[in-house]
Amino acid sequence: MSFINEKERGQIQNVSGNALQRIAEEHISPTPENYELWFVYYSRSVPEVVRIIDGIADSGQKITDYVCTEIYNRFLSDLRNEEAVRNAGEQVQNAIHNVSGMVQGVKSATSSYGNTLSDVNSRISGAKSADEIREVVKIATESTHSMIQQNQKLEEMLRQSSEVMEELKRDLEHVRREAMTDGLTGLANRKSFDAEIDRVLRDCTARKAVFTLLMLDIDYFKSFNDNFGHQVGDQVLRLVARTLKDGLKGKDFAARYGGEEFAIILPDTDLSGAVIVGNALRKAVASKDVINRSTGKVLGRITLSVGVAEYASEKTVEELVARADGALYTAKHNGRNQVAAAPAH
Ligand code: GH3
Ligand code: MG
Ligand code: MG
Repeated sequence: MSFINEKERGQIQNVSGNALQRIAEEHISPTPENYELWFVYYSRSVPEVVRIIDGIADSGQKITDYVCTEIYNRFLSDLRNEEAVRNAGEQVQNAIHNVSGMVQGVKSATSSYGNTLSDVNSRISGAKSADEIREVVKIATESTHSMIQQNQKLEEMLRQSSEVMEELKRDLEHVRREAMTDGLTGLANRKSFDAEIDRVLRDCTARKAVFTLLMLDIDYFKSFNDNFGHQVGDQVLRLVARTLKDGLKGKDFAARYGGEEFAIILPDTDLSGAVIVGNALRKAVASKDVINRSTGKVLGRITLSVGVAEYASEKTVEELVARADGALYTAKHNGRNQVAAAPAH
């Protein structure tokens, strides 16, 4: 926490006022994320955010909640993660600095304790009276006592440091998980998909096992968005994500690949098996009504088109994705709400 002076207070109030006013003018939801986005915009602290928003406004496009979420996810949620990682780094450094300082202190205390003991030893051997012995024992006792205290301090410090480390470990795990998750649907995001398909490719190649890739795209999603608004569109994306998640099991992996497109990796599943899974998912999505939350009115149903490709020793993941995409295009072209399989090549 840092303190601000009067001038800074005035500037912050100004930025904050502009942000709130813009949120009201554009009819954007006054969520903490949107406030943060517009605060950043008016404080000019992230140039990319200013550039993108100005670009959208100049082109006459409307700035919707959806647009705000996209910009926030792209530029600000990552910044926050970076900050968390930076803070964690600083805390680790502090902990190491404190502990090593303490260890240094204990080391010199131990060596002076060793000197005291050898001194005590020679003085006891040469002692001429009971008083002299008593005096030497007193010195030894005091110095042992101070040694014990030093050790206790070190123990306490190590305990505190290990608590801080545990906390940091949890924070970093949380940041890592967030960085791999799509904020809207809770599915794995594109980055996570890229890492997973590389992993599956290596694993299945090593085991000489098959695997398939499904690319799924919502049919006529644009008109759903245009008719009912982006919030309903977002609700549809969550509905599809949940249905996919519920319809998969075990090692199957589903991700939001981009906008209204999803990708599924099925290890140990061949083309015909994947077509069956694709059809089951397609039917599950098509059987659900989309309901307007505020009125309870049924808005309609949505369908998916699906392209399936079995890995055929392609050199790169891109080639496999391109074949699945080609099959998806075929499914769209043939009338949508269907699964198409890429021919073996
Ligand atoms: P097709 O059947 O050929 O797939 O048609 P389509 O309308 O689904 O496809 P198109 O690619 O023309 O439109 C996709 C639209 O998806 C455009 C964009 O407005 C919308 N969209 C993409 N991501 C999101 C999102 O996160 N939320 C919402 N609400 N809409 C999104
Ligand atoms: Mg679509
Ligand atoms: Mg699409």
